Amino acid sequence: MKKIIIAIDGYSGCGKSTTAKIVAEKLNYVYIDSGAMYRAVTLYFLRHQIPLDDTEAVINALKRIDIRFEYNPHTHKSETYLNGESVEGEVRSMAISDKVSDVSKIHEVREALVMLQQRLGLQKGIVMDGRDIGTQVFPQAELKIFMEADIDIRAERRQAELLAKGEDLPLSDIIQNLQKRDLIDTQRSESPLRKADDAIELDSSNITIEEQTQYVIELAQKVIQEVNVMELV
Ligand code: C5P
Repeated sequence: MKKIIIAIDGYSGCGKSTTAKIVAEKLNYVYIDSGAMYRAVTLYFLRHQIPLDDTEAVINALKRIDIRFEYNPHTHKSETYLNGESVEGEVRSMAISDKVSDVSKIHEVREALVMLQQRLGLQKGIVMDGRDIGTQVFPQAELKIFMEADIDIRAERRQAELLAKGEDLPLSDIIQNLQKRDLIDTQRSESPLRKADDAIELDSSNITIEEQTQYVIELAQKVIQEVNVMELV
């Protein structure tokens, strides 16, 4: 059975990663969280105080960064590893959310991570979520989804996620962070967040996680079937 690439792009807090994870599980595909990669690089840059405007320092730091995802059998979740250390909790913190969009607009950072993401996709059978997956990383992806949702709903979801990890923040701080990131992500010169022309729009404001995942799974199954019929012709 021929496998496909599913690209899920959109704004933070629309349920991209939740959807991508469940869709991957159902299809027996690999899920890759590209945002976690930008977050891991940001964590490294903060820890090592890399000046973002010093291209040489950025290039040298990137050479020392190894990012991997490993399945944790205790939590049944895939975790982000930075140079052999699990940083799954730390990369989701507000301190990283606050800086990640400034790091992810750097040309050298995008170049390195896009290359890594494309390598991970060579085998197909993947679901990757992010901002530029359908436009830049896998413009040839067989299925592209672009997710949106109301800012208040996105912020409430982020607040609940952070609270579950022990970070209790006022909604206004989260809205401010989302708006700041939306602005930087959509306005940056290099692969800004935008819907690919052939992406299917999905507004998750008023639907449940079950409804949105079911919708994407049905779309994926249809595309997989079409791709395999084409193979036979
Ligand atoms: O998806 P998540 O909210 O974890 O992404 C964090 C940040 O990483 C985004 O706000 C964006 O600045 C950056 N990012 C990106 N390109 C991607 C994925 C994430 O620029 N493909």
